[in-house]
Amino acid sequence: MTGKLALEREIVATLNWYLAAGVDECVGEEPVDRYAESQVRRTAVAAERPAGSVPGAQKPPAMPPKRRDDRPRGEEALRSALEAASSCETIEDLKTALDAFEGCPLKAMANSTVFADGDAKAKVVLVGEAPGAEEDRRGRPFCGPSGRLLNAMLASIGLDRGDVLITNTVFWRPPGNRTPSNAETAVCLPFLEKLIAIVNPRILIALGGPAAKELLGSKESVSKLRGRWHDYANPGLSRPIAATALYHPAYLLRTPTQKRRTWADLLKIKQKISEY
Ligand code: URA
Repeated sequence: MTGKLALEREIVATLNWYLAAGVDECVGEEPVDRYAESQVRRTAVAAERPAGSVPGAQKPPAMPPKRRDDRPRGEEALRSALEAASSCETIEDLKTALDAFEGCPLKAMANSTVFADGDAKAKVVLVGEAPGAEEDRRGRPFCGPSGRLLNAMLASIGLDRGDVLITNTVFWRPPGNRTPSNAETAVCLPFLEKLIAIVNPRILIALGGPAAKELLGSKESVSKLRGRWHDYANPGLSRPIAATALYHPAYLLRTPTQKRRTWADLLKIKQKISEY
């Protein structure tokens, strides 16, 4: 085996090992050699140590000063989200406000703000949970594997992706695709509510449990909330909107046996759309 081939194999094996360990994202533009860094630190510590002293008894090297973080948190972040969202009149205003908003800690770890996709005057708005890896890379909601299934679900009832508006409860990818925390969804809620108020659809569809609980203000599971119509209200709307829930496409990919129920739910949505 040539040296180059062996090196390539080693690199592929390392990357596979990273993937197996759950490392599926690059967080920096340039690689950082942490081994070299710790070597430099060890050398610096050894140089500072008085001759004959016990290595373990040495004071650890000073940590670099903490970066000052000006991002608003907690109540302040919520207030700033409410203020920013309430001053918006169009979807473009909302996108600009979100780009400037620093109150959601998810933003610091994400590559893109994943806002909304589709028709700004749609009769149907769908709200998912949070962007995944592909959405984070491309800045577009539901453009990965779940999105491909969602497109097929919409097509099955005669809807094209361009006919609806698709967004999420949070606008930045949670690391490792974890469920967004209550604080993260709460701080994004004023933007989501304003988006729904601006589009003013006839039908609102929550995709998956977290979105269903958030939008329908319920503690019930998505299994209980799906297949029924609920009234959705928010301060920017002049009337309640008919809302329902569907199993999340990612769940359907893992649990295809639930597609039968989802098909029944989709037919109810098709029927409702025909009433408007
Ligand atoms: N899952 C979601 O809930 N939203 C996306 O945008 C993608 C996957």
